[in-house]
Amino acid sequence: MVTDICTGDARGHLMPWKRVSSKVKDHEIFIHKGIFEPLNELCEQAYDKGFNLSVCSGYRSFQRQANIWNDKLSGKKPVLDALGRPINIENLTEWEKIEAVLRWSALPGASRHHWGTDIDVYDSAAMPQDYELQLVHRETVGDGIFASMHEWLDAQMDRRHGFYRPYESDNGGILPERWHLSYAPISKFYSDATTLTSLERRLCESGICLLDTVLQNLELIYKRFICVD
Ligand SMILES: [Zn+2]
Repeated sequence: MVTDICTGDARGHLMPWKRVSSKVKDHEIFIHKGIFEPLNELCEQAYDKGFNLSVCSGYRSFQRQANIWNDKLSGKKPVLDALGRPINIENLTEWEKIEAVLRWSALPGASRHHWGTDIDVYDSAAMPQDYELQLVHRETVGDGIFASMHEWLDAQMDRRHGFYRPYESDNGGILPERWHLSYAPISKFYSDATTLTSLERRLCESGICLLDTVLQNLELIYKRFICVD
């Protein structure tokens, strides 16, 4: 069902993506079957320009996103400010904690990675052997390690390939993520199908941290952090 795909509860639409480097955080990468060909084409064109466009994150399940969410709110993983510095969330209100986490991480059930149409990319050709991938803004601009590939991507993001960056600029919601690409011809469909009602229903079945406060503010979260298209 489409709603299961939207919330990261389905896998039937996925296929493995083999361009995996041992340096990335996800060992197995799955993508939506429908993006295989356009992604291959984008990679080949990048290769012609000397870049090795590699995917470090594709599909992510509801449970996986819930683990990230819970780890951040329980202090197991750091919560960062807009500049990437760790924040002490202990003295924040529940809503302030949620807001802080949402700047960097999607609400479980509402991650674009649930769909398999969205990927995080880097240029493995630019990486020295011992380089640890960080996925931060400074890697993608100026003299950043992946800036050249992203400058090339800037010119490709006219939807010629169908790919675009849903998190291009900071509108007070999710911080800019130049590494996050989305295949519009398919992701638009799931974006439209992610409704407030279906999301609320899925969250009510989950035991995520601060669920009550999330539900009380769900409409606000939906407008500010989820509806980006
Ligand atoms: Zn991403």
